[in-house]
Amino acid sequence: METVEVFGQYKVYIDSGVLKNLDKIVDLTKFSKVVVITDEKIPNNHLGQFERIIVPSGEGYKNIETVRIIWKKLLDLRADRKSLVINLGGGVIGDMGGFAAGTFMRGLKFLQVPTTLLAAVDASVGGKVGIDFEGVKNLIGSFNQPIGVIVDVDTFQSLPDREFVSGFGEIIKHGIIADANYFKEVTSKKPRDFSKEELIGIIKKSCQIKAEIISSDEKESGSRKLLNFGHTIGHAIESDSLSSDQPLLHGEAVSIGMMAEAVISQQVGYISQEGVLKIKNALENAGLPTDYKIKDQKRIIELLSRDKKSEAGSVNWTLIKDIGEAIINQPVSEDKIIPALQFIAG
Ligand code: NAD
Repeated sequence: METVEVFGQYKVYIDSGVLKNLDKIVDLTKFSKVVVITDEKIPNNHLGQFERIIVPSGEGYKNIETVRIIWKKLLDLRADRKSLVINLGGGVIGDMGGFAAGTFMRGLKFLQVPTTLLAAVDASVGGKVGIDFEGVKNLIGSFNQPIGVIVDVDTFQSLPDREFVSGFGEIIKHGIIADANYFKEVTSKKPRDFSKEELIGIIKKSCQIKAEIISSDEKESGSRKLLNFGHTIGHAIESDSLSSDQPLLHGEAVSIGMMAEAVISQQVGYISQEGVLKIKNALENAGLPTDYKIKDQKRIIELLSRDKKSEAGSVNWTLIKDIGEAIINQPVSEDKIIPALQFIAG
């Protein structure tokens, strides 16, 4: 089993078949009760021995109404301050279940069991929990660290291919911003062609990269912003796509966003054209999109200026000098953004 220590506070355990031996990792006898929060699409054979709260699947249910249902069920199940909540699901369940557990009776202990690759490599590290409110993503929430994170790669078998590949959007980003060798490794094969052992190593490395970046941010270096690469344009496009009949998955939007922001990086004189093409080929080879039909360029520019990462009206961009090296707090003028939007428009 591989483990990653996060902030010296908890560990991410990564292996195949770990859920079957949960009691080897966590002393379950310490808890008065164990309640699993999950969604309707997660196979019910995982952690089937515990009482379950099952909510509908999808971002549309990551809201206060569903949290109310979870709190009510916790009450009906007589969960008390000594109970353990296990959030078994993707990032939606991790965020919402962590929030519900963290507020019920002033906070129950909880364990995160991410069942999507995206949640395993991204939401596992950082302790952010929360819900969407009034149409704004993650508006209500807090930092609340779990007692541990357990990634059982066997749970990914039932994950639709599109969701699995979407997770590689964030994995490839970790390589681009922090480690050229890792980029090479994770783009050397198609996502589903990695063996279980290789996948375990990849999840470990991605969690390590994210944990290192966030830990150094505690010294106020602002390095956490490195993780925003691809997310400024990515979020704008993700929001834009929600009104279409084919909404993008998060990792897909980040892939298109990284493509555009690599072009911006080239425009301002950082990465070479060769480097940009290397990124394009790698993303496409993984099965991730790099183009997006922009119906209304003005709307995208408007969404960019409303990005929550913007400070004093000007977006602080994270750009790349090369594959493996990112740089934060870069100002970018509109004349550099337009060619990037044209590039992804094909
Ligand atoms: P998700 O939780 O909606 O899961 C994606 C889909 O896959 C859902 O339909 C789900 O029901 C299904 N699913 C999950 N696991 C499955 C499995 N093993 N087999 C079959 N189907 C399965 O979405 P996601 O992509 O995992 O996460 C996105 C969410 O995570 C967003 O709400 C985002 O804000 C949040 N997030 C949080 C953090 C953080 O640091 N807390 C980081 C990244 C993303």
